[in-house]
Amino acid sequence: MHELSIIYSILETAEQEVQRHGEDSMVETIELEIGELAGVEISSLEFLWPAAVAGTILEKAVCNIIRPPGKASCGSCGHVFGIKQYFDPCPQCGSHWNEIINGEELRIKSLTITCAQPAVAVATDTN
Ligand SMILES: [Zn+2]
Repeated sequence: MHELSIIYSILETAEQEVQRHGEDSMVETIELEIGELAGVEISSLEFLWPAAVAGTILEKAVCNIIRPPGKASCGSCGHVFGIKQYFDPCPQCGSHWNEIINGEELRIKSLTITCAQPAVAVATDTN
């Protein structure tokens, strides 16, 4: 499934980041930027996420998804307009010759990495 492979590639990138911070680090929050034109089904991604990241550094991470809206610039008249899908015509002149300038993002915007706390040994007095 498409969304699953996206999660794995996010995970791979996150793991490389975390490794640079040391073995015991975990991801606390992850901020993803997924444009409206990126072709990602957010509901599927959210549905698959918990199982896909179980047992990984992302298991406890809070995932925030930012969705930049689609925006295109008309190649004929230069009009800049919001676009919901590729090949939407320019509302001003009807041209299909558009350059996408926003909304194709698919990347990790930021990661908050924490070092795992050492386990605290608690002495139990059974008296
Ligand atoms: Zn136009």
